[in-house]
Amino acid sequence: MPELAEVEYFRRQWSAGIGNRVMKIAHHADKRVFRGTDTRILRKELAGARLLTSEARGKRMLFRFSNENWLGLHLGMSGKMQTARPDFRPQKHDHFVLYQRERALVFTDARQFGRVQFHHGKTAPAWWENGVPEIVSAKFNRPFLDRFLHRHRKAPIKAVVLMQSGFSGIGNWMADEILWRAQISPSKLASKLSAGERDELFRATKFVARESLRIIGPDDSALPRTWLIHERWRAGGKCPRHKTVLRRATIGGRTTAWCPKCQK
Ligand SMILES: [Zn+2]
Repeated sequence: MPELAEVEYFRRQWSAGIGNRVMKIAHHADKRVFRGTDTRILRKELAGARLLTSEARGKRMLFRFSNENWLGLHLGMSGKMQTARPDFRPQKHDHFVLYQRERALVFTDARQFGRVQFHHGKTAPAWWENGVPEIVSAKFNRPFLDRFLHRHRKAPIKAVVLMQSGFSGIGNWMADEILWRAQISPSKLASKLSAGERDELFRATKFVARESLRIIGPDDSALPRTWLIHERWRAGGKCPRHKTVLRRATIGGRTTAWCPKCQK
């Protein structure tokens, strides 16, 4: 599932189209990715509009077009984006394509947990402004983290780190990476974290978000070999620190991997 850094990677795949006009649109109107969206209006408004800017927040993206048009994209479980040649022919899972003179901007989603939203108006749509600070921003600070942990004190920390209302863009692999770096057991209740552990959690969250955004790619292959991610799903996967075999269990509804030696 695309998390913070993968979303940022895919957002940039459409950057080649910034400044250029949409000539025509191809879409699979009856597909689930368009739930809640009137595709006739989307089609009518976006045709002829110029792509101006784009922005990502957590796992969400917003593309601004001329004539007060806004497009929201969410990649869900399996969404992908690419820039293709202008004669691109959509295949089965290419549900949404914006054709410009020199390229095609393609949104692909095989499993359709992703979403395409449209808004027409002077300001960004209400669904975009959710008040959750980006992890790499100064607003994600210790007081914010402490308040969030307190609010969810009865939940295991792994479940808390997966909550998009506090940890914007963090998904399963990043949550495991953060807790492994902070040396906190994923099943520990948020209320049981010591002040030192909260410090480590804060530091590790910032580090994993910043570094994965910096190293950015469509998958995890570019991340350093010292990261947990490369061992997480491997049979007999080991802690990169001291080669203890990792444990796995379902915590917070998701398969979780951790090192029993450094995350007690
Ligand atoms: Zn370890």
